[in-house]
Amino acid sequence: MSHEEDRARMVKNLQRSGYVKSKEVAEAMTAVPRHVFVPRRARGNAYADRPLPIGEGQTISAPHMVAMMLEKLDLMEGLKVLEIGGGSGYHAALAAYMVGEEGLVVSIERIGALAERAREVLKETRLEQRVVMVVGDGSLGWEKKAPYDRIFITCASPQIPPPLMDQLKDGGKLLIPLGSLHLQTLVLALKKGNKIKKKSYGGCMFVPLIGEYGFS
Ligand code: SAM
Repeated sequence: MSHEEDRARMVKNLQRSGYVKSKEVAEAMTAVPRHVFVPRRARGNAYADRPLPIGEGQTISAPHMVAMMLEKLDLMEGLKVLEIGGGSGYHAALAAYMVGEEGLVVSIERIGALAERAREVLKETRLEQRVVMVVGDGSLGWEKKAPYDRIFITCASPQIPPPLMDQLKDGGKLLIPLGSLHLQTLVLALKKGNKIKKKSYGGCMFVPLIGEYGFS
């Protein structure tokens, strides 16, 4: 079976299980190839619904978790998005696809080698012009392009890093796995003036956010 067929089947399964709900997320996950973002030796499993190692002790999240996060973020054309935990670049590529040519995704990755590889793969998918891949501590955000319409964190954090809330637009949404090193809850925070309204979406397990406002 070709990668395209495997990918179409993955999207269908995610729709059946309710993780993919909107046509926008279905289109993005059908268009963006996951296999090019995983190391060659793992490509046979690229469309299985599970996390995979991407080197440096890090992982690309399982497709159902990626889909669930994209649905909660409610991405649309023209938005400016910040991702913390760029990893392979796959989640950033999907977000870039959804925000279109007028949108922008800034993705921060702590490990330089992963960011470098993600940049190369993004070129292959022709989405690199919509993604700025930055190396650094994402718990500090990236002031240069702030404020952001959406911020999502793809690693586990003990708190919402204050700089990220500061860099979120009024009316913006931030999605983060909050909790301990071993178990977190996916939390969506809505910013309205100086108020933050939070909604929880169940348990999840991510690798840790390592940085000033994460785990040390
Ligand atoms: N979104 C990624 C993808 O599509 O492949 C998967 C992210 S992986 C689950 C989490 C990533 O967060 C790892 O690559 C890790 O190096 C990164 N990370 C951890 N702490 C970070 C920090 N303070 N700033 C930026 N990235 C960080």
